[in-house]
Amino acid sequence: MHRDRVLSASKVDIGAAERRRINDALEKTSPLGSRGLNGKDRDRLTVPSTSVGKQPEHRDQRSGGLSKNKASDEESETDSEESDVSGSDGEDTSWISWFCNLRGNEFFCEVDDEYIQDDFNLCGLSSQVPYYDYALDLILDVESSHGDMFTEEQNELVESAAEMLYGLIHARYILTSRGMAAMLDKYKNYDFGRCPRVYCCGQPCLPVGQQDIPRCGTVKIYCPKCEDMYYPRSKYQGNVDGAYFGTTFPHLFLMTYAHLKPQKPTQKYTPRVFGFKIHKT
Ligand SMILES: [Zn+2]
Repeated sequence: MHRDRVLSASKVDIGAAERRRINDALEKTSPLGSRGLNGKDRDRLTVPSTSVGKQPEHRDQRSGGLSKNKASDEESETDSEESDVSGSDGEDTSWISWFCNLRGNEFFCEVDDEYIQDDFNLCGLSSQVPYYDYALDLILDVESSHGDMFTEEQNELVESAAEMLYGLIHARYILTSRGMAAMLDKYKNYDFGRCPRVYCCGQPCLPVGQQDIPRCGTVKIYCPKCEDMYYPRSKYQGNVDGAYFGTTFPHLFLMTYAHLKPQKPTQKYTPRVFGFKIHKT
């Protein structure tokens, strides 16, 4: 896997070198030759094949910087990565803590780097997530050169792939003892919200998915007291995929921390009209 990536990267380097050679050749050709090509054709030749017809000027500047001065190019690469990936947060923020602090992502705990670095834990995910290797590098803050060779759209795809990959890793992690301990801290902090049911008296809830397959439904909250499921209060949380928490988590959590399982509610609401119970027909 890793070797493949190195190979493809070197392929791109060769491509860049070739493009540079073409540019040099164009500069050096006789006046007749350069006149023979109109401006459009020249642009097309200098644009990398990965960004066909997209922002040729921007790309030209980039490849120009690459051939002129390696140091300045490296600088611009880190600049663009900072602005693309870590947003306005400080430089020390890891991708994982940045992601978990986004609005709507309050239900996620931070997965240990160690857990993610163990290939065994990620078994089967590479076939589910596009741009898997790049997404994994992004999650682990591994410096990679893809920012330079990807188009903006491709970078966005890698970022959303990273979110999906993190979500799927997260669903597995919170079933481990370390992950469950991290979720316990959040539970004690009421991070998952409280049951809206009056007779549950503000019972803290746990996140749950209705499916373990991504893109089949959004995350819900499960109340251990009334044993029912509700929509999260925040609409941002309501857009998060339920598969990133899974169907098993709250129940395994309450089996693991059995002392946290509350008594069933004793009170039940009775609808009344003018004080009289309503007869069911
Ligand atoms: Zn409840």
